[in-house]
Parts: sequence; C-alpha cells; structure tokens
Amino acid sequence: MSAEIICVGTELLLGNIVNTNAAYLAERLAYLGIPCYYQSVVGDNEERLMHLVKIALQRSELVILSGGLGPTEDDLTKETAAKALGLKLVEDSVSKEHIIQFFKIRNKTIAENNWKQALIPEGSIALENENGTAPGIIIEQDGRTLILLPGPPNELLPMFQNQVEPYLLKKRKASIYSQMVKLCGIGESDVEEAIRDLTGSTNPTVATYAKTSEVHIRVTAFSETEEQARKLVKPVVNQLKARFGSMIYTTEPEVSLEQAVVELLAKNNMKVTCAESCTGGMVAARLINVPGASAVLHESFVTYSNKAKRTYLDVKKGTLKKFGAVSEETAKEMARGGCINTKADACIALTGIAGPDGGTEEKPVGLVYIGCSVAGKTEVRECRFSGNRAKIRESACTAALNMLRTCILEYLSETKFT
Ligand code: ATP
Ligand code: MG
Repeated sequence: MSAEIICVGTELLLGNIVNTNAAYLAERLAYLGIPCYYQSVVGDNEERLMHLVKIALQRSELVILSGGLGPTEDDLTKETAAKALGLKLVEDSVSKEHIIQFFKIRNKTIAENNWKQALIPEGSIALENENGTAPGIIIEQDGRTLILLPGPPNELLPMFQNQVEPYLLKKRKASIYSQMVKLCGIGESDVEEAIRDLTGSTNPTVATYAKTSEVHIRVTAFSETEEQARKLVKPVVNQLKARFGSMIYTTEPEVSLEQAVVELLAKNNMKVTCAESCTGGMVAARLINVPGASAVLHESFVTYSNKAKRTYLDVKKGTLKKFGAVSEETAKEMARGGCINTKADACIALTGIAGPDGGTEEKPVGLVYIGCSVAGKTEVRECRFSGNRAKIRESACTAALNMLRTCILEYLSETKFT
C-alpha cells in the first residue's frame, strides 16, 4: 500500500500557517511502514482540488486529505471528494447526535450550516471528532481508500492516532510494536556508523532521528500479534543497549532527557542544585518542567556577574581574576559552592560565552565549561558549541543535563561496588 497526503487550505498556500499536519501524517505513515510518495497543498478551490484528488486516486491506494471539513462555504473537501467518487452525501445519525451534544455541553446554539457536517458520502465510515464537530471520513472504493480529516491539529492528531491507525493496521492484518532508544552525548553520524548493520533490516526497521544534541533510534516491528512484534524488537534494542550503554537515557517514547534525570535523582533520593551563568536558569527550568521535580530540586542560582558567583557560590576572587569567569576553574568552584551552600547531593554549573559578542581567539563564542559535583567529587567538561546565542544556550543545557545524568550513574556504580 502506498499513500499520499493532500492538505487543503488557501492559508497554507499563502504561507499564513505552517503545514504541521503534513509533517505529522508523514511521520506517522513512516512509523506504520506505509510508504508515502507524494504530498501536495491546494487552496480552497473545487476545481483544483477535484483535479488533484483524481490524480491521487490513480497513483496511490491510500489518499489522506486534511482540512476543509468545517461548516463554512469555503470548506469543500467532503463535497469535492464525494463528487470525484460519484457518491451522494447522506446524513449520519451518530455524527448528527455528536454535533447536538457538542453544542449542548457548551451551551451554544447550533448554526444552520453546522448540519452540513453531519453529512457523509454514502457507504463511508464516520470517525468521531473528540475536539470538534466535523467527523473524519473513510471512503473505500475499488481498492482505494480516501481518508478525510479535519484541519485543526488538535482534532486531526487524536483522530488519526486513535481511529485511523488502528483501521490501517487492521487493513494490513498487522500489529505494530515500537521502542524509541534515545541517546545523548553522541552525534548522528557516529550513531549511524555504529548501527549500519542494523539499519538495512526491514522487520524490525531501525531509523534514526537527529534532535538538538540528541539522537533517537526507533525500532519498529510488524507481526500478526503485538506479542510477536515485541519479540522482534527486543533483541535489536538489546543490541543497541550493548553498543551505546549509558549514552542511552531512555527507551520510552514519551520520556525526555530532563524527565530521565529527575527520575534518576528521585529514585536515589538525591537533590540537585543548578548554578547557571550563560544559560540563565534554563537548566533549572527544564528540570522544573517535569512533574515531581520539587522532590529533587529545592533551589537554584542564576549567577551572571562575577560578584554573584562570589556571593552565592563562593567562587574565589583570585580564581576569577587569574582564569576568568569562563574557565574550568570557575566552573569547578561554582559546582562545588552550589552543592555545599545548599546541602545538595549534586550541583550542575555552567559558565560560557553565548555570543554574539564577547568571544576572543583564546575563548571563542560557544565555549562553555560545565561543572558537575556529585557527593563531593567535581568534574568539569569543556564544550564548544556552534550556532547562534539561542542554539548555544540550548545545546549547553542539554549537555549539562546529560553530564549530570552520567556523573550520577558513575557515582552510583562506584558506591555500589565499594
Ligand atoms: P474548521 O471546522 O475549523 O473550519 P476544517 O477542517 O475546515 O476546520 P480548515 O478550515 O482547513 O479545517 O482549517 C482550520 C484551521 O486548522 C486553520 O485555520 C489552521 O489553524 C488549522 N490547519 C488547517 N490545515 C492545517 C495544516 N495542514 N497544518 C496545520 N494546521 C492546519
Ligand atoms: Mg474550515
């Protein structure tokens, strides 16, 4: 089965909105193992949409359309698709009831044009819309499947994931199972090099995704049952674990780096303090983004000036004078001072040059020292990041969170065996 995506909307053509639905649908199709060979965008114009739908139906077994299912005059996707397939529109009682309830709950009166949303092409399947009134629609005809989805992403996403994906899997008589191996502290090309022998496999498939300062590897298998698919995924994930070890911070698709750090700290009953200069609180903010962070982070410092570094972290005047604020020595004292002054088990400290000004030949823009103190032992890493100020600060944050994670793991493995 090969697929194509058509996004409908003049706003998309004019660049007023970004086509995130296409990106989402394309990614999900890839995940489902369905090749997608074409993507197009067309305005709210019946003639051009009709033309495109007809071409799509000739070359793809699965055509997914997004947008234009609303109640207004310019929403004409459903009418056009029905016309292209020679189907009449008939009322769907379930969708009609859903519209009535939708307005009742919100204490609103139903506008006359909303009733048109209860119409679906004869013989098609209506998909419930959790967050809106327009049902999604699946039309099957002569071995082709046309799927119409509402434009607003908060309506399209849950509908696709909860209703369309199970439908497509059932159609292919397949169950799917996938794991996401997330790595930090290694570049994408090194990852690809290390798993070249695995990426050629078709079941399970092994695909890498480069994120800012992270690489994610998705292992996906298809089989008749989920249990069998799971059995295909497991040995490959074990291989990845053996190859990348502690560079892997999670194998759960939803778990972020900061969440993994918070969980690690909480599990070991440890408290962390951040002492930040160039990142200005971003590391603390990322940790606090994780629910339950209050158990592991009680306080943090943004020490941007030299004076603040001395006052709150006890960085020595002589250290700042001799080595400068952006130096290994200062990062070390920041981490140590942050730990001692807050009685934390760990402290992560950052000092660097985010630019665009302030760089020298010796200390260029992008130079960041990250200090990490865990149970009295302090390490410093010198990093050189590229990009603009925002990118440098973001990369520094991720590197700091990962260093904190690896230093804690190191500490735990040492204490376990001594
Ligand atoms: P509505 O009932 O809101 O009219 P609809 O199904 O008719 O929904 P559109 O009118 O095409 O959809 O788009 C409604 C809104 O959904 C747009 O203003 C835009 O915010 C969002 N949207 C539509 N298409 C896309 C897309 N391809 N990517 C991201 N957002 C989109
Ligand atoms: Mg609309």
